[in-house]
Amino acid sequence: MELLFENARLIDPASGLDEMGAVLVRNGRIAGIFLLKDGFSGEFTHLLPSQRFNLKGRWLVPGLIDMHVHLREPGEEYKETIATGTRAAAAGGFVAVACMPNTKPVNDDVTVTTFIRHKAAMEGSARVYPVACITKGQAGQALTEMGMLLEAGAIAFSDDGRPVKDSAVMRLAMEYARGFDALIISHAEELGLVADGVMNEGRMSQLLGLKGIPSVAEEIAVFRDIALAKYTGARLHIAHVSTKAAVELIRRAKAEGVGVTAETAPHYFTLTEEAVNGYNTNAKMNPPLRTEEDRQAVIEGLKDGTLDAIATDHAPHSSLEKEVEFDRAANGIIGLETAVSLSLELVRRHGMNPLQLIACLSWNPARILRVAGGSLRVNEPADLCVIDVDMPFEVTRENLFSKSCNTPFLGQRLTGRVVLTMKAGVVTHSLLN
Ligand SMILES: [Zn+2]
Repeated sequence: MELLFENARLIDPASGLDEMGAVLVRNGRIAGIFLLKDGFSGEFTHLLPSQRFNLKGRWLVPGLIDMHVHLREPGEEYKETIATGTRAAAAGGFVAVACMPNTKPVNDDVTVTTFIRHKAAMEGSARVYPVACITKGQAGQALTEMGMLLEAGAIAFSDDGRPVKDSAVMRLAMEYARGFDALIISHAEELGLVADGVMNEGRMSQLLGLKGIPSVAEEIAVFRDIALAKYTGARLHIAHVSTKAAVELIRRAKAEGVGVTAETAPHYFTLTEEAVNGYNTNAKMNPPLRTEEDRQAVIEGLKDGTLDAIATDHAPHSSLEKEVEFDRAANGIIGLETAVSLSLELVRRHGMNPLQLIACLSWNPARILRVAGGSLRVNEPADLCVIDVDMPFEVTRENLFSKSCNTPFLGQRLTGRVVLTMKAGVVTHSLLN
């Protein structure tokens, strides 16, 4: 079986390629990459019209990888399942996701890790890499059996949703992780300062009369975990960076050679605390939306490579958790299906190089997680994503594949949309006819 994607703008951050050309897929693998500048002019005349896709200049990039999602299965299948979450991932251009362990029960045991992997293999529209807990029950005390969890297929360790409060426990976790050469993902938050805050602390929280979470709560936690990574030599990844101070700490640590990487999410470079105005529970998340100064710092961090990855922190909730008063509403928004549209603004408005943008969504997460994919290479599985950067995308309940629709972008018209996702040669999402 052969398919040819022609007249594409091929963007491959792994090789630095950004050229017009074509990709030939044969038996699930990339069989050839042909560039216009090398004289390629649409050979393969043996192919039927149904095997040729004229992409008319659309971007053809490696299948995207999201290193931070919540799939809610097991335990909260009314919000999302492995099937619906990965279907939403495919619609967003993703061929692989790493799912966080705060399910019910939490993923602190090989039976849960194995369940997720089996379910994903049966029903998943994307590869699923389970992230296991650092501590049993995410209680912040006893460490999980890292060796057994890794053997069962855990890709990394995190107590995401909560920080590891006790520095001695985090130190021990990093020492064990280092022994396994495993990745620790930090949900960086100093709980004492978070207290019962529900949004960013500042002008807006005062105006709305809501309890604030100061940005220094993130700064202190990022500082601690970088210090521990430096001390133990462990591989550390900072999740969902939202503040200017955290960006600066990570920049400095990288310059010093500390083994730290970091991600942010599209909402942190798209929105600010202003979005909470009107007590909009779809703008409630953790960490909270911050100030314009923080937003600009996050953008700078992505542009200069301080922040390696764009992850969605896809966090589905039903109306039961969101259509309540702001104080009581659950944290988080869905993000898989809007990530590309929102991230394209970095190129359109902020002068980010398309190669770098795609690196944040594919090649960099692949390297951090040490998984296959994230690049366009001959003989590798055909993991592809086609993006129409001009196509409007109206975010409506009907247009979303996720079971939940808790997004502040609901009802908005975004620009740019994923029109095809292919995982190992299998089309998992298509708007092309
Ligand atoms: Zn988190």
